[in-house]
Amino acid sequence: MRSIIILGATGSIGSTCINAIIGKKLDFQVKGLVSFSDPGIIALARTFSCPYLLMKGKKDGELLEFLKENRADIVLNGIAGSAGLKASLDVISLNMDLALANKESIVLGGSFLFSEAARNGVRIIPVDSEHSCLYNLLRAFPDARELVITASGGPFYNRSNTDDVTIGEALNHPTWKMGRKITIDSATLANKGLEVIEAGFLFGFPAGRIRVTVHRQSVVHSLVKVSSGAYYAQLTPPDMTLPIISALSDGKVSIDDIVEPLDFTNLDLTFRSWDKKQFPLLDAAYMCLERKQGWPIAFNMANEVAVNAFLDGRIPYNRIAEIVLDVLDGNWASEASSLAEIEQMMAAAKELACKGLARCSCI
Ligand code: NAD
Ligand code: MG
Repeated sequence: MRSIIILGATGSIGSTCINAIIGKKLDFQVKGLVSFSDPGIIALARTFSCPYLLMKGKKDGELLEFLKENRADIVLNGIAGSAGLKASLDVISLNMDLALANKESIVLGGSFLFSEAARNGVRIIPVDSEHSCLYNLLRAFPDARELVITASGGPFYNRSNTDDVTIGEALNHPTWKMGRKITIDSATLANKGLEVIEAGFLFGFPAGRIRVTVHRQSVVHSLVKVSSGAYYAQLTPPDMTLPIISALSDGKVSIDDIVEPLDFTNLDLTFRSWDKKQFPLLDAAYMCLERKQGWPIAFNMANEVAVNAFLDGRIPYNRIAEIVLDVLDGNWASEASSLAEIEQMMAAAKELACKGLARCSCI
């Protein structure tokens, strides 16, 4: 039986994992649960008779201490946002494998994260549905020369004017039920931008060999193009339980034991292009992956500041992209090769984005 620890246990990823373990009676031993200012964790920990950590503020080292005392075969990082990076590095430093939903860890940590993983002999297994799919496809087709990431297109794909978008409309995702931050990112396609960068670092592909296609049904999770020119895809129902359990079990749990199989008697699959003008944040993310250095960090932090401000009702929807693009006009051409340097760059980008908020004629 594999032992696991769940970070962000009360969030969308965390609860999907816990509901699957309980509901499907999966063979995992839960060795610890962690959440941030969410007391729901106490009841969850009672269910599994395991220790928990309820993080409240910036107490340095508390997660590392918790993980030292409660080790597991693999740790699921389902923390939302940039706070996930330090957590991922804590897990890696203790030589535990990482099932990584927190894409921000990869976008911010970049090559530093992967060199730390290699130095500690740790595997990073992606949980993001598209990357979980690519991880499986690349094991089957290691000679693949192009990645195609699918995007649902979010709630505004067919809407030309987003001037008056409300928070409620932006939170109404057509196919996935997720946390608030990633749901807004799915509306602006900044999420797909983060995922393009994530794929670049995870699989070592340059921006020019990663494509995005809009696929409204979220059944094909991604594709690879192999040297013969053929494309191969993985199709599963849109349910995050699958990539989470696949990462935690190393693909050993059968999909049929978790979800109803796809029904091919009535299944439409469509693929469409996306427009750079309509989704400038996805376009900007490609530029960030091409340039690397501090650009992915600036992209992630500016977007996080802007999205939180939108969710707090402080800026209109269309300002999110403007704030991010303003920050990306800065000079981010320096390499961060330690956590301290990454954190410095994160703080600089955050400060610039906050200045952008202050200049905004807010609502
Ligand atoms: P969420 O907001 O629903 O949950 C976040 C969890 O993280 C909560 O348990 C919260 O208590 C905890 N948390 C927040 N800040 C923390 C901090 N500073 N320290 C420790 N814990 C903290 O978010 P989510 O939708 O579950 O997303 C989690 C991560 O997974 C994100 O990086 C997201 O991009 C990624 N992801 C989510 C989905 C999805 O379906 N929800 C899909 C793919 C990837
Ligand atoms: Mg995804």
